[in-house]
Amino acid sequence: MLPTRRNSFNSIIYFCTMTEKRTELQDLGEFGLIRHLTDSISLQNPTSKVGIGDDAAVLDFDAEDEVLVSTDMLVEGVHFDLTYAPLKHLGYKAVVVNLSDIYAMGGVASQITVSIAVSNRFSTEALEELYVGMRLACERYQVDLVGGDTTSSTSGLIISITAIGTVAKGQRVLRSGAKEKDLLVVTGDLGSAYMGLQLLEREKQVFQGAPGAQPNLEGYDYQLERQLKPEARKDIIDMFNELGLQPTSMIDVSDGLASELIHLGEASGLGVQLYEDKLPIDPSTFDMAREFNLDPSVCALSGGEDYELLFTISQSDYDKIKASPHFSVIGYMTETKGAYYLIDKQEKVHEITAQGWDAFLEKRKEDIDPDKQPASE
Ligand SMILES: [Mg+2]
Repeated sequence: MLPTRRNSFNSIIYFCTMTEKRTELQDLGEFGLIRHLTDSISLQNPTSKVGIGDDAAVLDFDAEDEVLVSTDMLVEGVHFDLTYAPLKHLGYKAVVVNLSDIYAMGGVASQITVSIAVSNRFSTEALEELYVGMRLACERYQVDLVGGDTTSSTSGLIISITAIGTVAKGQRVLRSGAKEKDLLVVTGDLGSAYMGLQLLEREKQVFQGAPGAQPNLEGYDYQLERQLKPEARKDIIDMFNELGLQPTSMIDVSDGLASELIHLGEASGLGVQLYEDKLPIDPSTFDMAREFNLDPSVCALSGGEDYELLFTISQSDYDKIKASPHFSVIGYMTETKGAYYLIDKQEKVHEITAQGWDAFLEKRKEDIDPDKQPASE
């Protein structure tokens, strides 16, 4: 069974980032700009006492909770490409990827601060788009934007977001808590965001060769949405509470399954045994990877930006998750620290390394039956 696909922005993605009307940033000034962008923000969480407008935000948390803080910086040209990332989507994604880290601790996010550095290449209208996306994410995940800073940059756009959340004492889930024989579980499906990126990069090449040509992105809605407007798995944290399930360790999948499972193994002092045939890959992503001459399993292992949750549970908790379509048991934790292995569909053993899709890819090339390989472009 497939996880439910979520609604998109219903906006057409086209390769043009600036809206037509243009108000220069200096026309508003820094304070005017902040006021303009944050005017309509109202606080929804009881823990948010004072938001934007004073020297500092004031938050008030319950004594039974621990406070979680996570921060992330996104740099134009390094983490995002405005050729194909619409600013509204970028704003949404920038918030979501930060919230994902709070959920990966087993917590609930309640506030964010947003700081941006921006060059005069951007208009006020462009920043409004960015903030519309951020506000949509705040509404969807019920978090308050309580502060931040806006400053000028000599080139490009930099977005730094800090997410704040809470977890009840005794319920935080660290990377280091996995035990030998614990089951390794992942939510949702993997590799789709990576295939979305492959498509956008391919069409960007076409666009650069023939400016004005609009991209052909039809039929890949799911992969584009996973890349441009991902969701964080707050719903899973709610599910854990309903199921009375306490994972022993957890991490979110931002850099790719291979690197995240190594983080869990390292922190817990264990090894991992992973099964290729258990990797959850959406059928449309599987077909698309084949069409692009890529190995679907490699995309799932090393693609990244899935923002799913990877966690371990005690075997005695298996009954709690076995009926749910949201969870896939993909392997288990082994005794030997540093031993990370993938058992492929032919039951051959491959070593998994953090960057390590090269080794895997090499071996797979030998293994793949040439008759079954898709025709090259
Ligand atoms: Mg993380």
